[in-house]
Amino acid sequence: MKTLSHRLIVAAIVIAALSFISSGASAQAPTEIFSSPKVRRALDFLKSTEAETINDQVKACEIPAPTFQEQKRAEHFKRRFTELGLKNVRLDAAGNAIGERPGAGSGPTLVIVAHLDTVFPAETDVKVKRQGSILAGPGIGDNCRGLGVILGIARALNDAKIETQGKIIFVANVAEEGLGDLRGTRHLLTDELKGKITHFISVDGAGLDITNVAVGVVRYRATFRGPGGHSYGAFGLPSPIHALGRAIEKIARFQVPAQPKTTFNVGKIDGGTSVNSIAHTAWMEIDMRSESAAELAKLEAEFKRVTQQALDEENARWASPQKLTVEMKIVSQRPAGLQSPDSPMVKIAIAADAALGVKTKLTSGSTDSNIPISLGVPAITIDGGGEGRGAHSLDESFDTTMSHVGTQRALLIALGIVGVR
Ligand SMILES: [Zn+2]
Repeated sequence: MKTLSHRLIVAAIVIAALSFISSGASAQAPTEIFSSPKVRRALDFLKSTEAETINDQVKACEIPAPTFQEQKRAEHFKRRFTELGLKNVRLDAAGNAIGERPGAGSGPTLVIVAHLDTVFPAETDVKVKRQGSILAGPGIGDNCRGLGVILGIARALNDAKIETQGKIIFVANVAEEGLGDLRGTRHLLTDELKGKITHFISVDGAGLDITNVAVGVVRYRATFRGPGGHSYGAFGLPSPIHALGRAIEKIARFQVPAQPKTTFNVGKIDGGTSVNSIAHTAWMEIDMRSESAAELAKLEAEFKRVTQQALDEENARWASPQKLTVEMKIVSQRPAGLQSPDSPMVKIAIAADAALGVKTKLTSGSTDSNIPISLGVPAITIDGGGEGRGAHSLDESFDTTMSHVGTQRALLIALGIVGVR
């Protein structure tokens, strides 16, 4: 315990100093933040009431919330935000639940989000089963954990009567998963809270990693179309399926760097009418990702080039005056970017890890932070603690052993950013 408290104080001073440097908005002396026993009290509170955080996690989880159908769960969070005394509680036009905790001064404005949506269809059984320290249920880690944690932060700030320098805006946001395409966060940054956010944290899933590299994603559907006809009678027509085959053969030869990690995958193909018909349509869906925006742009350009080339080759192969066309349509896009490990925000997170005896692990991923990072707003995504298994599967589970550390860490990082009066 002595080591922990010693580490805590050292890290506290570091956090305080960093907060002071990074925000530039707080007039307080750096050491003030953690010389206050209130922060210790809040940490103790979170440890002793972790069962409540878990309870909030479970309650959220038992309200179905597939992407684009988050409304019921959002309403639940609107109610919880109100119960916790947050101000200006509302649902915005995108469906995000928002509650604000004003600061004392003109400090930074931190938005702390946890996404509401799950990858599971509405009819999925979302009842959470408990067995000892293990909770089992679809979405229990990703992202009911994050949802429980942000409520925990609000509870702890209330209990310890902490007045922050800057403002904290709590958001349970929509449309993080899959084709939701980060629509909820996009709306926050470009509309609802446009120009008002100085820092952004997403609490997402189980574990204790910090995601500071925003993996960019672009997904296309490429559709080849032609006249189609009888395989024997109309022989000599170009074929969309053959053109698609040519394109995939070229894509399969792509060379991409291992660092920055860059990937591609044709994940879905379809088309044709019957074995004895020349197809009139064929399409593929391709997913391309990179830690580097430049590499992703290169890959995207290469995909377009070879798809066009495949079309030209198939058209040139036949003397027919009837030609194929191809349409390349973006079906999903998330910008790439980096929150530097040397940035004040990441340093605050690392200091919070040190304070709690957590070994820091910086990682990359495609999360809600992609949007603020791409817009130049400092952002990280942090795990919510505990240990998760089987995210995005029906067998998903969450081990609550020491999970309070995740809630404590989220609180420390938030306070490191907004400052304490
Ligand atoms: Zn998630």
